[in-house]
Amino acid sequence: MELKDLYRDVILDHNRRPRNFGRLEPADAVAEGNNPLCGDRLSVYLRLDGDRVTDVRFEGKGCAISTASASLMTEAVKGKDRSAIAELFERIHALLTQHDAPVDPELGKLAALSGVREYPARVKCASLCWHTLNAALERSAAVVSTE
Ligand code: ZN
Repeated sequence: MELKDLYRDVILDHNRRPRNFGRLEPADAVAEGNNPLCGDRLSVYLRLDGDRVTDVRFEGKGCAISTASASLMTEAVKGKDRSAIAELFERIHALLTQHDAPVDPELGKLAALSGVREYPARVKCASLCWHTLNAALERSAAVVSTE
């Protein structure tokens, strides 16, 4: 099987059966994202323990790329802390925007998003969930616990 076909299968699978789909209540942070170019809308819900994301879910309506990207993202960031997520975000950004860069093998299933590089108009579909996650993390940073 060609790598391209494998990537396509990962996207199709995560679009058809999105992982961690639905609301998280109560959530420690929520953010909404909107990509008017395509009509993708989604909300990202987080549960945090200190700097670590212990649970993450998303819901919304969007194209196959935006849904699959959000599904893959939730699997990738669950259990990670803020700095690991920031580092992953940098890698994803590079994956989506640097046309000729080699695909980082450490990205695992997220590498499937590299197919989007061929279609610049779809980059926003794939990155929407990541920007929304960042917004949720920034919002939660303002929450101070006295425990
Ligand atoms: Zn889209």
